[in-house]
Amino acid sequence: MKAVVYKGPFTVAVEDVEKPTIQHPNDVIVRVTSTAICGSDLHMYEGRTAAEPGIVFGHENMGVIEDLGQGVTTLKEGDRVVMPFNVACGFCMNCVEGYTGFCITVNPGFAGGAYGYVAMGPWKGGQAEYIRVPYADFNCLKLPQGNEHETDFILLADIFPTGYHGCELAQVRPGESVAVYGAGPVGLMAAYSALLRGARKVFVVDRVPERLQKAEEIGAVPINFAEGDPVEQIEEQTEGIGTDKGVDAVGYQATAQGTDNEEPAIVLNSLVRTVRPTGALGVPGLYVPSDPGGPDEQAKQGMLLVAIGRLFEKGLRMGTGQCNVKRYNRFLRDMIIDGRAKPSFVVSHELPLDQASSAYDKFDKRIEGFTKVVLHP
Ligand code: ZN
Ligand code: ZN
Repeated sequence: MKAVVYKGPFTVAVEDVEKPTIQHPNDVIVRVTSTAICGSDLHMYEGRTAAEPGIVFGHENMGVIEDLGQGVTTLKEGDRVVMPFNVACGFCMNCVEGYTGFCITVNPGFAGGAYGYVAMGPWKGGQAEYIRVPYADFNCLKLPQGNEHETDFILLADIFPTGYHGCELAQVRPGESVAVYGAGPVGLMAAYSALLRGARKVFVVDRVPERLQKAEEIGAVPINFAEGDPVEQIEEQTEGIGTDKGVDAVGYQATAQGTDNEEPAIVLNSLVRTVRPTGALGVPGLYVPSDPGGPDEQAKQGMLLVAIGRLFEKGLRMGTGQCNVKRYNRFLRDMIIDGRAKPSFVVSHELPLDQASSAYDKFDKRIEGFTKVVLHP
């Protein structure tokens, strides 16, 4: 079968690889109908991780079940399903508490597994014609048959729940004001989720005009940090108080105003300034324990200078960590089915799998409007 294979920094190729087979009675094989490229795939693509050439990318996957192990009880051939990017067992101490992003069964020695991702276990990616899904009864979320809402449902694998998770970590409540830093796909999903949760006013900070325009289209207030300190801009619109809550949808690859140099702590420190005393921060944006490409010695070891004194003084709470997709995907799916949510507004391109190589290149360079790409094998 065809799959997107990592060849080395800035190169992927669509190549023939072995088709997956059932290896355990709880496995299913899914024929992939949609698979999305994620900003976090670029960390591997750019050679900033320990990913070795040969890895098949793709943690955002959906499709139709083609083959089942004998132990699978709730699924059948032909079922249309979407899988959380987290591979999870469903029975370990973290899974039973809902922390499926920190499953201790699927990736020995580490908490949390994912498809097609370095250090996240042996699970092959789904940017391919087929994918093997373990613990299938737990990991497959059933979808209505047919092909309706395909580009909405594929976002249930990661970015819609991840944006929602940012709001959950910040405990966004109806009537509150929220500052979301970053208007990439996850930031837009966080802003969208804040509005779904009844937030009164949602600010979205970025410097890319097209991204800010998308934020405005869904009813958020765009804040362009190229035009001045975003914290001051938000203060001006909140009677000098700041927002109730904040979401970091940027992570460590952040850049400061007026430069293209990375400043990994800039977003966290801006949020500490933006959010009012006793507010809360949700941090679904990615931070890593080591970053060989970091701008200084500390950053290379995953250590950043964060304004912890100010954070303490303001009594701010902070929630972190990757999304436990399983916690949210069922009700977010139902909002899509009932027409209450349509997250596909973030998808910029839908392309055949064959075009993965140029799609990665353009997405990485952020050219031709490439923001969120869905591939169809
Ligand atoms: Zn992703
Ligand atoms: Zn588990």
